[in-house]
Amino acid sequence: MHPNDPALKSFVPGADDSGFPIQNLPYGVFRTPADDKPRVGVRIGEHVLDLKVLEHAGHFEDLFGDTHVFCKWGLNRFMSLGAEAWTNARQRISELLRADNGTLRDNAALREQALVPLEAAHMLLPAEIGDYTDFYSSKQHAYNVGCMFRDPKNALLPNWLWIPVGYHGRASSIVPSGTPVRRPRGQTKADDAEAPTFGPSRLLDFELEMGFFTGPGNTLGEPITIESAERQIFGVTLVNDWSARDIQKWEYVPLGPFLAKNFATTVSPWVTPRAALEPFRTTGPEQDPQPLEYLRIPESKRDGAPAAGWTYDIKLEVALQTEKQREPFVISRSNFKHLYWTMAQQLAHHTVNGCNLRPGDLLASGTISGPTPDSYGSMLELAWRGERPIQLPSGEERKFIQDGDTVIMRAYCEGPAYRLDLGECVGRIM
Ligand code: MN
Repeated sequence: MHPNDPALKSFVPGADDSGFPIQNLPYGVFRTPADDKPRVGVRIGEHVLDLKVLEHAGHFEDLFGDTHVFCKWGLNRFMSLGAEAWTNARQRISELLRADNGTLRDNAALREQALVPLEAAHMLLPAEIGDYTDFYSSKQHAYNVGCMFRDPKNALLPNWLWIPVGYHGRASSIVPSGTPVRRPRGQTKADDAEAPTFGPSRLLDFELEMGFFTGPGNTLGEPITIESAERQIFGVTLVNDWSARDIQKWEYVPLGPFLAKNFATTVSPWVTPRAALEPFRTTGPEQDPQPLEYLRIPESKRDGAPAAGWTYDIKLEVALQTEKQREPFVISRSNFKHLYWTMAQQLAHHTVNGCNLRPGDLLASGTISGPTPDSYGSMLELAWRGERPIQLPSGEERKFIQDGDTVIMRAYCEGPAYRLDLGECVGRIM
């Protein structure tokens, strides 16, 4: 049976009705008090399946031979093996977790070792991220920012409809969900001030994004074509690309964002394989003007896909929890499918000049703003530069993020038979 078959059930208690059913199987890297060596696991319900244990018991030997891919800090080795290996591993893991397969279900000793309760797993970054690129692929977000800082008539810069605009981020400050984030300090300059001042950022913001991890990658000088791009996408993760708007405003001319962005980026520890998203694939917004040829899949190679490649119906939420509130309050609901440029186009564009990508590189989407004011993906837009503060149930209001506030992002796909949770991206400002 195909791992996405809605009829599949798992023997793991509670998994079938959770957001992490057998059709999901996201990968992560974890350690436990009993074994502090980081290794790769797969989330199933409220458990983590320890792939190192299964690998050492020989359950992947026919797929990978003697090569150990899961007893590592990071998914990089596994990512480097490519799409066929990912498909085979996903098939094998699915089989081992099935309710009608006794291999793991009936082997108490192995099961005990391999199924780690989620509470016992300390989640780490999913990969050793070599390079991090951040795009700017939501037309609504680019339009909103253009309206605020230029004017509505020329909100989009002339290149935006032709190029998946992006910049190189900083990989060293990417942290897993739950890591506290320190408010950055830096130079800012008020419009009417003569000189800048130094101090804590006063306009701290989140950016609701999704990112994808790349697979084998390409040799320097050899672009990844758009028709082969999807085979390079290992899986997706939630990303909060924290931004200090006041620092950004003063520093970004002419080379783009620098210290306003590189103080922290939070990611979910779970990477949902692209294969698990296939039942939720859909087409993105119509692209007008038609992009240049290298950003379109040739008609003969489309195989039913749109020219831009597939996108996915992934529902996104941002909630804010202040110290005074009892519960997180949802301040935005957006969707991955609103992005104008697809992941395949981002990959094709990123490498068209010959730039090489490596296994475990992270390419993030840019802020994902939907078409309505309650679906915007940043405080800057939700509170419209501070002009329309967000009202919270506690009676507080927010224009930007305050100390002690926690930003919680969630993503999920909802189908007729099951729901896929893509994990959480949580960060508290100190
Ligand atoms: Mn960003």
